[in-house]
Amino acid sequence: MSSPSPLDVAFFERKLRQREAELTAGDDGSRPDEGRVGDFGSARIERERHELQDVRDALARIATGEYGKCLRCGRLLDRARLELFPTVRFDMGCMELDEREHNIHNPYRGADRPGRSC
Ligand SMILES: [Zn+2]
Repeated sequence: MSSPSPLDVAFFERKLRQREAELTAGDDGSRPDEGRVGDFGSARIERERHELQDVRDALARIATGEYGKCLRCGRLLDRARLELFPTVRFDMGCMELDEREHNIHNPYRGADRPGRSC
């Protein structure tokens, strides 16, 4: 084990670029569809598109030196968590707050949904 060191963003940048490459490779049909996937397929594509956006956001934060910090409170993120989820942008406390805010827009809880979409 070593003493705490500054975040080696190069490690995460490589990881993120690899993930970006994987996600964009799926776009040109290099992966053959196994029969008809229907809604499962489009749900997966939707999720991957979302993830790609997250990955690119994270890469942008690396470029600006923001990577590895909570976007809400600026606290340094847990390194172990970053290794699991390189695109994470909030620490645990702020993530809960963020999710709660997003749940406002969640149609499943839309008893009184706001009259606009985001
Ligand atoms: Zn925070």
